[in-house]
Amino acid sequence: ERLDDRDRETVEKRDRLLGPSYRLFYDQPFHPVSAQGVWLHDAEGRRFLDAYNNVPSVGHCHTRVIEAVTKQMSILNTHTRYLSDGVLDFAERLLDLFPSALDRVMFTCTGSEANDLAIRVAKSATGGSGIIITRLAYHGVTETIAGLSPSLGSGVPPGRDVFAVDAPLDPRQGGDVAAAFALGVEGALAEMRRQGVRPAALLVDTIFSSDGIFSDPPGFLAPAVQLFREAGGLFIADEVQAGFGRTGDRFWGFQRHELTPDIVTMGKPMGNGYPVAAMVSRRDLLDDFGKKSRYFNTFGGSNVAMAAATAVLDIIRDEGLVENARTTGDHLRNGLIALSQSHPIIGSVRGAGLFIGVELLRGGAFDRPASQETAAVVNGLRERNILISASGPNANVLKIRPPLPFGIAEADLLLSTLDSVLQTIPVA
Ligand code: PMP
Repeated sequence: ERLDDRDRETVEKRDRLLGPSYRLFYDQPFHPVSAQGVWLHDAEGRRFLDAYNNVPSVGHCHTRVIEAVTKQMSILNTHTRYLSDGVLDFAERLLDLFPSALDRVMFTCTGSEANDLAIRVAKSATGGSGIIITRLAYHGVTETIAGLSPSLGSGVPPGRDVFAVDAPLDPRQGGDVAAAFALGVEGALAEMRRQGVRPAALLVDTIFSSDGIFSDPPGFLAPAVQLFREAGGLFIADEVQAGFGRTGDRFWGFQRHELTPDIVTMGKPMGNGYPVAAMVSRRDLLDDFGKKSRYFNTFGGSNVAMAAATAVLDIIRDEGLVENARTTGDHLRNGLIALSQSHPIIGSVRGAGLFIGVELLRGGAFDRPASQETAAVVNGLRERNILISASGPNANVLKIRPPLPFGIAEADLLLSTLDSVLQTIPVA
């Protein structure tokens, strides 16, 4: 199947109008025109199984979100410099989902802004500037946060006083995951001391999405976080990817690690597509910050944003989506492990709930990433109307991250289709 004339024109127009910073997925670009639940549709009426998108977390075009947003939009949509019950009701509901020490929330529109604010708070509270991130982190697009996002590529300069540590080990590599990660943080702290830099923040995506998806063993983050705190820094959990029930065990990714962060950021799935994001922290940190600096985000915490976010929390609860992420996720992972018996290219199956990474390796060796094969699998699935992507430093980790209502039938369709695609991949 080749690019039809209409899509070729769309691609050319896109290049002309949006420029080369915008990258498309797939050899054969995908052009959806509508969506519902876990399905996307193209103009020819074909349907595509969405095993990738985490923003429409409660399902594409969920009626309750649409109704909440349109209703609020027709009543009132203004900002946080007027009194509003909606923002306070939502703040209470959101904070109830956190350990009691995390008792305050500030609203933004994007995950990037939430991380940017978190870094400002951490620098202000610690008086330090040193920030630790992982080797292939992604945290967003502002200048500060792009400098903390090496996955944007070597053309993006790292920020000042930014120290990158290795991503966690895969447990199958045999080392002690917690000790190895803590050792990386210890090394970065030593380097900070050598350079006379005071620590401000250890910032990690709690599911390590762009690094290749690392979830196990639960608790492995705790020793590194403890070390960093003892050195005077704060731990920021970036929950933009892992948050809102996706990991299927608890509501937030950090809870897998049995620790309470100093600051938590969230976004993407929070409004099911309506832009709403937030930073949660402790009042001692935010009181200090607030004394030094005013904060106002024009659209952040607006009535409509809060209506969307409230609907999302309601739906996650009423439809048992955390539970579904766990059961469907377990089923998928077990199916993938079973597939690895007949497809030795499947070197490791990682992840939690409906955030799954499948590392493809040649000869089962972690130093022989099957990068081309991974691209072939992603494109092969797309040709068979299933959407996933890839991540990791060698782009050899299948990234499976569907909307949370993904059911057993859809998981089985993904598994059987992956089985047939893998049969077309030559064994290296
Ligand atoms: N943090 C993580 C872990 C992310 O994956 C992303 C977005 N992909 C962001 C932050 C930035 O969020 P946004 O695109 O809403 O600015």
